[in-house]
Amino acid sequence: MRTDQDQPVRLADYQPSAWLVETVHLDVALNATATRVRARLKLKPNTAAPAAAPLTLDGDGLALQSIALDGTALPADAYTATPDTLSIAQPPQRPFELTIETLVDPTANTQLSGLYRAGNTYCTQCEAEGFRRITYFLDRPDVMAVYTTRIEAEKADAPVLLANGNLIESGDVAGTTRHFAVWHDPFPKPSYLFALVGGALGHIEDTFVTMSGRRVALRIYVEPGREDRAGFAMDALKRAMRWDEQAFGREYDLDIFMIVAVSAFNMGAMENKGLNVFNDKYVLASPETATDIDYASIDGIIAHEYFHNWTGNRITCRDWFQLCLKEGLTVFRDQEYTADQRSRPVKRITDVRLLRAHQFVEDAGPLAHPVRPEIYREINNFYTATVYEKGAEIVRMLKTMLGAQGFRAGMDLYFQRHDGHAATVEDFIACFADATETDLAQFMRWYRQAGTPEVAVTLSHDPKTKTCTLDLTQMLRPTPGQPDKEPMVIPLALGLVGPDGRDLPLRLADGRTVEHGVVTLTQPTEVFVFAGVPARPVASLNRAFSAPVKLTANLTADELRFLAAHDSDPFNRWQALQTLGSTLLTDNVKALRAGAAMRTDAGLIDALGAILAEPALEPAFVAQALTVPSEADIARELGHDVDPDAIFAARVALRAAIGDALGAALRETYRRLSGGGPYSPDAASAGRRSLKNVALDLLAAAGSAAAIARAAQQYHTADNMTDRMAAIATLSFHPVPERQAAIDDFYRRFQADPLVIDKWFALQAGIPEAATLARVQELTRHPAFSLGNPNRVRSLIGAFAQMNQTQFNRADGTGYAFVADTILALDGRNPQVASRMMTAFKSWRALEAGRRAKAEGELRRVAAAQSLSTDVRDIVERSLAPA
Ligand code: ZN
Repeated sequence: MRTDQDQPVRLADYQPSAWLVETVHLDVALNATATRVRARLKLKPNTAAPAAAPLTLDGDGLALQSIALDGTALPADAYTATPDTLSIAQPPQRPFELTIETLVDPTANTQLSGLYRAGNTYCTQCEAEGFRRITYFLDRPDVMAVYTTRIEAEKADAPVLLANGNLIESGDVAGTTRHFAVWHDPFPKPSYLFALVGGALGHIEDTFVTMSGRRVALRIYVEPGREDRAGFAMDALKRAMRWDEQAFGREYDLDIFMIVAVSAFNMGAMENKGLNVFNDKYVLASPETATDIDYASIDGIIAHEYFHNWTGNRITCRDWFQLCLKEGLTVFRDQEYTADQRSRPVKRITDVRLLRAHQFVEDAGPLAHPVRPEIYREINNFYTATVYEKGAEIVRMLKTMLGAQGFRAGMDLYFQRHDGHAATVEDFIACFADATETDLAQFMRWYRQAGTPEVAVTLSHDPKTKTCTLDLTQMLRPTPGQPDKEPMVIPLALGLVGPDGRDLPLRLADGRTVEHGVVTLTQPTEVFVFAGVPARPVASLNRAFSAPVKLTANLTADELRFLAAHDSDPFNRWQALQTLGSTLLTDNVKALRAGAAMRTDAGLIDALGAILAEPALEPAFVAQALTVPSEADIARELGHDVDPDAIFAARVALRAAIGDALGAALRETYRRLSGGGPYSPDAASAGRRSLKNVALDLLAAAGSAAAIARAAQQYHTADNMTDRMAAIATLSFHPVPERQAAIDDFYRRFQADPLVIDKWFALQAGIPEAATLARVQELTRHPAFSLGNPNRVRSLIGAFAQMNQTQFNRADGTGYAFVADTILALDGRNPQVASRMMTAFKSWRALEAGRRAKAEGELRRVAAAQSLSTDVRDIVERSLAPA
């Protein structure tokens, strides 16, 4: 493991590598505890780098067995080898071949980076810096090489042997019980995209004919016996491949595309060239075991990893500061894929909910960083909502500003210019600037300045001149390391909605027209005067969430209800309801804190009732409209003096009021949407289930005994996991006997299925009651739980720390202490997962004083621990840094 002594890495210090690697021949003899790796590297001096230099290869915990230069063993005084580096002080200043032998222990690799075992399967994870845990290498993304991989193993131990590229040879090792396979990947790639897999795996297969008529074999490998759960993933893969051809003109390039599902994985999935490795949670699905949300995640993640083949693999990143170049862009691409496959407005709403819940919160706290960071101590800590989700928002803004055609022209130029290379954010943006002759210099600030811009809008109307004026200001608060900020480019899609609910033409008084309904702010304050506006309109601002900003406007509650009923932009219909809900909830939390009474908002409930009664609306949208802001949303809106108990109480009261007032309509909705044919995961069916289950949950929230009985009945009779899980989740919020009965039944039904038992852990960790902490502590001793498996850790402890606001934030601090203890216990084993868990404390400064002190105490206790990984140390120290 790397230690805290490591120096920070700075973007400003970037230097091209003095050496390049042209080809890599790997020969890997798999063994559970002693895998021999022989790497033959063709190295050459980099003519683009300053004059010849020593050769220093990266390692991480390696044991060198032998080293030879052009076939001759190197004398001991010609090199130095430590676990973390291999250097040759005076290498020949010409191309040469280096052969390095290392020995690695996959079973002892609990970090799940490098070569490790997931159950009985050998697999690798090399992003970001895992390849150096397999062999010494120039482990940086701008060193791109052509790889040939020979894998050898006992046939009984690993009948399936896979690596990147195309299979070129395989067979038995004569006179032994071993066999081998040789894979060749003709596309030069950085080491982080290397992968190999060995094990006893089942698979399903299919073929895809690309737009130019090439046949590609598709294979999904799973634990034997699970093949029947991989069909949806295969279907998603084919739809993603077709979509990338149609939306971006991108075709697949190898003869085979493989996905392997593994049971132990730090992240969601990995885009290794031609051999994606997935957390099995994002591959395996059956109606009985996976929810609609699981199906949607599989669809999106399969697409995401596939899309990386062009945005990430064919064009990769020059250095890790450019991570958003592949991640932000690829998230944008997967979001667009889903919007095209399912419902665009509902997809936008769910993405914005996520962005606000994670990215806005990150941006508002001590871990705020630019989409392109300029310094890091541990790159693994930068796979964040900011790099991924805000990175995607930047790409979306480009499309909004340049239009669909201009955007596509920029993308085409990007693929044409940079294919086969390691690029930067500047390279990417230059393609759009050049293709559309647009100056994007100020727009680059989105990559450099952290924090969420705040836009305030005031509408005024003058009936005499028939003009309507929008006064806009933008502001960006300081973030760590960035005290002063400059104005951003903010594309704001907007409409002026007339009294009849129709959009008015947007004519500026100076004669200009507003193209595509988008005004672009570039200054701290701006004024737009619209002409030909006889009556006061209602401003619908930041339509479809065109810019990732916090927007406030002088809209009255009546105007918000008007937008909720009439806006032509479905996103803003939803947003208007959220704004009303969030205003009510924050007011009520403040009232509770002051010992005053909460208020009600009959207007909001009427507006929700009207949405529920509008037959033309898609059920998935109605379900979103009826889902009030989350506890985390309210905490974020409050920004300081956060008391999770008060937030919880205010939210419970609002949900009860909705369930009560709309009871008849909700019962009718539940009845109307129940039943129907056999389960299908399509978006329309999923939308109906989500509305049905939201209705049931609100009825139960109102304290209806009949609703609890119906939930219990739905739990026991459901023919699919979506309905079963929704019912048990509803029960979990109520201390009724039906709850424990369902929890016990759930375990009995699904005990053989670890991915389903994860739901069982998360459900119990999320119960918003004082007894939950003891229950979670007890579940850490359950035979199905293991600190060694990231999915188990995330489903039990992650769910407790990230989802259960009242219990993680217990006033007595024991929730924090438990999570801190778990982090300390986990850090030596899996620092990446431990450090991810540490981010649960990222909003500690916003808490009310009592909890803030308790949280700070736990952060300081972790910071003072004897030995910490660089991962956890980086997060804890940034969390504690003076604000
Ligand atoms: Zn990605």
